[in-house]
Amino acid sequence: MIYLDNHATTPVDPRVLDAMLPYLRERFGNASSRSHRYGWEAEEAVEKARAQVAGLVGADPREIVFTSGASEANNLALKGAAARREKGRDHIVASPLEHPSVRETVEHLAARGCEVTWLGVDGEGRVRPGDVARSITPRTFLVTVMAANNEIGTIQPLREIGRIAEERKVLFHTDATQGAGKIPFDVRADGVHLAALTAHKIFGPKGCGALYVRQGIELERQTHGGGQERGLRAGTLNVPGIVGLGAACEICRAERDEEARRLARLRDRLESLLAAAEARRNGPREGRLPNNLHVSFPGVDAESLMLAVPEVAVSSGSACASGSMEISRVLKAIGLRPDLAKGSIRFGLGRFNTEAEIEEAARLFVAAAARLRKVARR
Ligand SMILES: *Cc1c(COP(=O)(O)O)cnc(C)c1O
Repeated sequence: MIYLDNHATTPVDPRVLDAMLPYLRERFGNASSRSHRYGWEAEEAVEKARAQVAGLVGADPREIVFTSGASEANNLALKGAAARREKGRDHIVASPLEHPSVRETVEHLAARGCEVTWLGVDGEGRVRPGDVARSITPRTFLVTVMAANNEIGTIQPLREIGRIAEERKVLFHTDATQGAGKIPFDVRADGVHLAALTAHKIFGPKGCGALYVRQGIELERQTHGGGQERGLRAGTLNVPGIVGLGAACEICRAERDEEARRLARLRDRLESLLAAAEARRNGPREGRLPNNLHVSFPGVDAESLMLAVPEVAVSSGSACASGSMEISRVLKAIGLRPDLAKGSIRFGLGRFNTEAEIEEAARLFVAAAARLRKVARR
């Protein structure tokens, strides 16, 4: 099997696992236990991880809140900020490409009295900063735009949007899940007030993530019952997970640029090999995640193509919902023709992919596309 679905999740880096194991074995303490060494050790490990996460995104460790992942972090950021908004400020500006954990949370707030302006995007999935500026009114309290898209890999102009948010005195939330650790992302330079990330997209374990909360920003807690994480997030800390998240962030910080260059080169190689199957790229050439390739195979159905290449794990731009093909919102938002959307495949490269795997995957897809087209012509 060749794993090319690294936007969905990534394998755990063996170095991350090694860092975690002691906290699943002998150092199993509760980080809130103050009366003995088990607790102190756990707390120390958590604080080290907090500094590692902060280090990756240019934050102060005190600005990091550990969560169960990016979905929870997005929920806490958006609902927590909405609950503390000033009277008369009930307007949200949101990008249309957001992950369900942002989109559905914004819809939830809309059903409870918030007004939402959904931005448009260009044909490559980019939010135009001018649109953000025009959408902000004196009633706006928050703008949310993801750092990079999980389907077509488009990197958003966070810095420009952050500057606008700062000028207009609105909160800027970003879902940095796909961007942090893969592209330059710095909460101060990018002018972000709230940012979500998760370990399992950066070669760490599932079930652990973090929310960056700029100092001075007040959020309403969304879970009650414990004083953990400055009262913002109740529950015994997932110490092994947090240690894994910290280690994953540390590795990304040290290796990000080199890894990005290597993956971009492999990705470009994949794209050029897939040209033999007339694959057409969706999303931008420049300004996309280095590990992302999203292509349409004209005249081929993505579901059939994936079935024809069971050796390669990828995902498609459309999903079977109750028997009919449902095209992804992201592909709709960039105006991709429905037939091309139905024939689209997302390749997500990762740290452990080799050149030989990329060549083999390309060969299998090119052959399968040719076979399917031949059958279709008969
Ligand atoms: C995976 C993903 C999430 C959800 O992260 P979890 O930790 O699985 O909750 C949120 N946003 C984006 C962009 C993602 O790719």
